[in-house]
Amino acid sequence: MSSKLTQADLRGDSRPASNQTVYQECPLCRDRGWHFYTNSTTGGWDCKKCSASGYFEGRVEPTKVLAQLDRNLTVRWPVIDAPTTVALTVEALRYLSDRGISEDFATQLGLRSVDHRRVFIPFFNELGELIWWTSRKHHSDDSSPKYLGASGKHPLYIPVRPLPNVPKILIVEGPFDAIAAAQAGYCGVALSGKSLSRHLKAELQELLTPDMLAYIMLDGSNTTLADSFKLIKQVSRPGVWITRCPLGHDPASLGAEGIRSIIEGE
Ligand SMILES: [Zn+2]
Repeated sequence: MSSKLTQADLRGDSRPASNQTVYQECPLCRDRGWHFYTNSTTGGWDCKKCSASGYFEGRVEPTKVLAQLDRNLTVRWPVIDAPTTVALTVEALRYLSDRGISEDFATQLGLRSVDHRRVFIPFFNELGELIWWTSRKHHSDDSSPKYLGASGKHPLYIPVRPLPNVPKILIVEGPFDAIAAAQAGYCGVALSGKSLSRHLKAELQELLTPDMLAYIMLDGSNTTLADSFKLIKQVSRPGVWITRCPLGHDPASLGAEGIRSIIEGE
């Protein structure tokens, strides 16, 4: 079966899946079970439910999918299963304590031990469901990668969701930077890098309500300012400010007090 569709027929929530974008609703069978796959590179689409497939009519522009995402401002990440974890080990607790993270706060964030030598960091959605995870090694003699995580694209890491009385968001690089921002009393949001994929951008724009102030606080390096300007251009929204960590520091190494003095000193 084949039908004529244009990109304008796509409505409603979407989420990424490898190099494709999946829409919750199929414009043909109206099934809402995330079965409609689109590929903006090839222009192809197919519905796993009604088995319809084809290519979009007219020109297919990846930017149209972007505009669609931007307009929806809703990115739903699939809920995933957690790996097998155990309560934080003594070594993991010592590692966290060295980073200024108490056992209580770690427990509140759902941090656990995984593979004996790693701290498991869960990414939850606003309903508290697991949508991604990463793990950080804490042995210096461990030659495995610093971070190992779930497969696929990662969402934003938001250890503590924004509260009505916490109108300041700190956009940072790593999960531990976001945790430090949360300890400083802000809503820390980790990009897990310096760049903003279109999905992270849509997620961030959804998070940034008009009454919120956002501060970009990347790791202090020679390229921080350039990277920050790149980000601020992408976010393209008033009320976003650039702050600078001292050279060689990141928010995690500054700690809650250090972060507060930079933000409140702005
Ligand atoms: Zn369908």
